[in-house]
Amino acid sequence: VESDTDRPVLAVDLGGTQIRAALVDPDLTVHHRRAVPTRDEEGVDAVLERIGDVAAAVLDDVATSGLPDPIGLGISSPGPLDPWRGVVLMAPNLRGWVDVPVVERIAARIGLPTFLERDTNVAVMAEWRHGAARGTRNAIYVTVSTGIGGGVITDGRPLVGPDGTAGEVGHITVDIDGPRCGCGGMGHVEAIASGAAIARDGAALLAGDAAPQLARLAAVGGEVDAELVARAADAGDGACLAILERAWVAIGAMCASLVNVFDPEIIVLGGSIAEHRPRVFEVARRELERRAFPILLDRVRIEPAAFGGDVSLIGLLPILLERIGDPAYAPGSQGPRTAAMQQGVLRT
Ligand SMILES: [Zn+2]
Repeated sequence: VESDTDRPVLAVDLGGTQIRAALVDPDLTVHHRRAVPTRDEEGVDAVLERIGDVAAAVLDDVATSGLPDPIGLGISSPGPLDPWRGVVLMAPNLRGWVDVPVVERIAARIGLPTFLERDTNVAVMAEWRHGAARGTRNAIYVTVSTGIGGGVITDGRPLVGPDGTAGEVGHITVDIDGPRCGCGGMGHVEAIASGAAIARDGAALLAGDAAPQLARLAAVGGEVDAELVARAADAGDGACLAILERAWVAIGAMCASLVNVFDPEIIVLGGSIAEHRPRVFEVARRELERRAFPILLDRVRIEPAAFGGDVSLIGLLPILLERIGDPAYAPGSQGPRTAAMQQGVLRT
């Protein structure tokens, strides 16, 4: 007899540009990958339809391949979102995504127990249970990519918060007079060190005629994104190098704040920028020495993620194994509003 822990999960990653889906095995093998463009400009219903289509297509692939049926469907999505009701509350990178009942809509079509979690919380579960933070009880995952996001494991459990939004590390203030962030706040690390911020600063250099290598690269048809700024820096453009170094210092300052607040054993840095610019680790470790409590420096590590782009698929495996059968996540649940309430510490 197969137990639930022997069975795979159907994993869907809803991103700003792509919807990816696959079957994730208990041994972490990823089977039957599929991807479709998100095309959020076509509206919420069209995107929900495509999530259903790509999930159904993977289920068909599973049926014909003879692999075991998935135990449930997990959806990794930008947030903030309510994981108990399965509702995306607001996704700034998906047009029109306000109060979207994703779980209700997709479960009705696919017919599997369905769960929703913020992409960065999925990622921290992947790295904590199976990746770079395995074996720790206090771990933080930070993605450095177009945006900056994260998830926190503290004393052996995910930090959730009453609204399910805890761990949004990208919105830590690192410069009180700094630039306006996409969330409306000021001087957040995301407004200084994200791919979008690096691209914005690169475009400003270009407009001010202050970055000759960037101008040369942009002239041959390159869009000014973080990668182009990095290539210009590699080619010796001092102003572009300064943008990147400032970004890495901001990430280091964020890490130092996280160390002082959470006393983690490890901070895992993932995302496409961390993956391709190893210099960020060097600067972040240096800034930790300058800014974190000295007594914590002997233990805490800053390490690269183990899973790359698959974090937001793989993390759905441990999440589903925990949540299937949990009434807090069952259809119609209003959810335990806080982890403390769940433990009976607070009663309302
Ligand atoms: Zn912000």
